[in-house]
Amino acid sequence: MNIQVIKPRLKVMLASPRGFCAGVSRAIETVEKTLLQHGAPVYVRHEIVHNAHVVKRLETMGAIFIDEVDQAPAERPIIFSAHGAPAAAYEQANQRGQLLIDAACPLVLKVHSQVKKFVAQGHHVLVIGHKGHPEVDGVIGQSNPSHFSLIESIEDANNITLHGKKLAYVTQTTLSVEDTQAIISVLKDRFPEIAGPRKADICYATSNRQAAVKELSKFANTVFVIGSPTSSNSQRLVDVAKVNGVKNAYLVEDPSSLEISNIDPDTTIGITAGASAPEDLVETLLTRLAEMFTLVIETVETTREDIAFKIPSLLQQAS
Ligand code: SF4
Repeated sequence: MNIQVIKPRLKVMLASPRGFCAGVSRAIETVEKTLLQHGAPVYVRHEIVHNAHVVKRLETMGAIFIDEVDQAPAERPIIFSAHGAPAAAYEQANQRGQLLIDAACPLVLKVHSQVKKFVAQGHHVLVIGHKGHPEVDGVIGQSNPSHFSLIESIEDANNITLHGKKLAYVTQTTLSVEDTQAIISVLKDRFPEIAGPRKADICYATSNRQAAVKELSKFANTVFVIGSPTSSNSQRLVDVAKVNGVKNAYLVEDPSSLEISNIDPDTTIGITAGASAPEDLVETLLTRLAEMFTLVIETVETTREDIAFKIPSLLQQAS
């Protein structure tokens, strides 16, 4: 006798856009193409993108992740990560005559150009971002650190004392859009002459994923954000869900080990993924949920993305 088990229904809403952005796709393809063209090992300064699964997969293909340029043999290619690198790292690789392939996101490099321009114009630059994040280190590393101050919070913006300095600001690309706007407002109130980028430096992918999770939060009682704890933009998606009323918003690094047995079928689950999180992790989570529930899946789409960045020209020529 066949006994059919009826699974309870569970509503799942997927945020769109979610997951890989153009800068992350480009960075990963850069490592893959370098391995193809130059063989293993290739060395990558810093995690190519902030996702443990991506890093592990590339390691199995022959990528070796290092912190500093001199940890790589000079005769092997070195790739700089999507977050960008300080000027000193570029100089060091060039002095060693090492083949340098830059996977820094073009939108991060745009911020580098801005700060160099501001410093050349005599500005002291306030960098709105997180201390110790490699993107922020790369931005501050574009010139002498004495030209910069780091602003991490509204309190920093309120408390910083900068007498008689000509000021400018830039921001990390992966911050909370709303928190950053609040910090910029304080700075503009306190320093009306402060110069800034024409458009905020927070990138299209960060803004779009935050807008999508904000919309998702209108419907979901629980939100899972696929991403690694080191990923700033993934962490911000959790914050955005919480700020928009979803108390149960969680960062999920590894969906295969997520505890799902206590999920109440009366809840609506929202799922999104940070810009460095591969879509197959979303699939893993859906497969696991489908083992317990009959899923009713809907997509909450706030915009469509069609942005792509070309891989570095060094790799295009040789392919
Ligand atoms: Fe570039 Fe934005 Fe993606 Fe970072 S999150 S790699 S800045 S597109």
